[in-house]
Amino acid sequence: MKSTDFSWNQCSCGSKLLKEYDHIDLVYPVNREKTKHNAYCNSSLGGCGRTVYGKDIEEVNKRWNEGITDEKL
Ligand SMILES: [Zn+2]
Repeated sequence: MKSTDFSWNQCSCGSKLLKEYDHIDLVYPVNREKTKHNAYCNSSLGGCGRTVYGKDIEEVNKRWNEGITDEKL
C-alpha cells in the first residue's frame, strides 16, 4: 500500500500537505528494515512539524486521523 492510497485528515495546524502533495517528504519509513513509518507535517513545506509513528503506513494513517501527535519538531 502506498500512502496516497489512504485518506488523510487535515492536520490540526490547518495544513493540507497530506491531501495536496504526493507524500514523498511526508510519509516514509524511518528505518532501513521498514518496520517503522512516520507521517510528518513537513515544516519546510509550511507544516507545523507534527510527527506520527506507526509500524506500517496503515497504522500511521489511523493514528494520524485520530489526531495523535507523537512528536513535534
Ligand atoms: Zn501540521
